[in-house]
Amino acid sequence: MGGLAPFTTIDFPGRLAAVVFCQGCPWRCGYCHNPHLLPARGEARAWPEVAAWLETRRGLLDGVVFSGGEPLLQRGLAAALADARALGFATALHTAGVYPRRLAAVLPLLDWVGFDVKAPFGDYARITGADDGGAAREALSLLLASGVAHEVRCTVPEDLLGADDMARLAGQLADLGVSRLVLQTCRADGRAAAPLPEPLRRAAADFVACVELRH
Ligand code: SF4
Repeated sequence: MGGLAPFTTIDFPGRLAAVVFCQGCPWRCGYCHNPHLLPARGEARAWPEVAAWLETRRGLLDGVVFSGGEPLLQRGLAAALADARALGFATALHTAGVYPRRLAAVLPLLDWVGFDVKAPFGDYARITGADDGGAAREALSLLLASGVAHEVRCTVPEDLLGADDMARLAGQLADLGVSRLVLQTCRADGRAAAPLPEPLRRAAADFVACVELRH
């Protein structure tokens, strides 16, 4: 575990939750909010220590979010999710769907998933520096088929994702069955985010029924 946020009201809809930040991610998005977590350097905080702390939060919090980094990288994720549920907490995952089979394995242990899409599938390398998006498409399909509550969202770096890209991405998402998409402005280097241009929102709204902007 790379870190712990003891309290959040915004990372798990409808829940007062703690956020456990997992180390490691094979991708390298330029706008990553937690670049210090990307190399998995070993356990800064072991899960049993976090679980013991969570036990003291019973009755005060009602959820635990596993974020990152990419939590699916952690082989111990399923066991940690089971522990969190055994303690009485609802469970959430923030993921970009890097490992679809591992996502499938933990979906029965999840109450909510925040799923980050990066770019039109087939064009992921421009954002992630690593992958064509095939894994993310498969992971999103598995999530949608599972019936687990979720949010599909996209952080928009305007220099890398234009309205045409957004239209392609939204069309692909609609084909998969996504009916709600949250667009987030990009806050690289901690700078205040500019409002998202209206053409980008319109390009998404041409395909996805509900498009929300989050600043
Ligand atoms: S997938 Fe997420 S954790 Fe990995 S580099 Fe991109 S923004 Fe950071």
